[in-house]
Amino acid sequence: QTFIVGITGGIGSGKSTAAHFFEELGIPVYNSDTRAKVIQNEDETVKSKVIQVFGDEAYTKEGLNRAFIAKQIFNNKEKLNALNKIVHPAVFLDFENWKKEQNSKILIKEAAILIESGSYKDCDAVVSVVVDLDKRIERTIARDQSTKEEVLKRINNQISDEERIAKSDFIIDNNADLKHLKNEVEKTYFQLKEKFSL
Ligand code: ATP
Repeated sequence: QTFIVGITGGIGSGKSTAAHFFEELGIPVYNSDTRAKVIQNEDETVKSKVIQVFGDEAYTKEGLNRAFIAKQIFNNKEKLNALNKIVHPAVFLDFENWKKEQNSKILIKEAAILIESGSYKDCDAVVSVVVDLDKRIERTIARDQSTKEEVLKRINNQISDEERIAKSDFIIDNNADLKHLKNEVEKTYFQLKEKFSL
């Protein structure tokens, strides 16, 4: 049996960094956000469905026209739902294919919207990376060279840490330095092995 561990967290919480530390422990990591982008740009079935909903403008030579799509789904729940109904099942299938190629008792699925997409329900354990708001804002501004307003807008578009924590089996605190995060990941790894009797 293979155990799927979902890892999530708000913008700038450090879930990619935590996932990287899991990888260093030898656990394969599937990055849902990166794969979703590749699928939207390249998967022919997905592309034709997106064009059916949004029209030809949905794509440029470079791939998905993100600015156009963002405008279309802004304040339009129906179109957002339609897009999710195309993309989420495709990512689910892609993950299932990836899973078959792995040779590990534990696999990590990293996703910013693990809870919102409902894909946490397919996980054997859910891990949330949690950081105080002011630190998340500071780290995201430094990483993306964005403004505080932009970061706050993105944070306000996501569910709260409380909602994430309510659905989580393990919490990783990332308020301290990277050494501390690495330590937290190792601790969680042992707890996961214990949970799965490995
Ligand atoms: P997003 O959802 O926005 O992609 P994320 O949750 O994957 O974010 P990361 O990219 O891993 O977050 O981390 C955000 C930024 O904070 C990165 O620049 C990362 O290097 C930095 N960072 C992560 N953890 C720490 C830490 N403990 N101390 C200092 N900087 C950190």
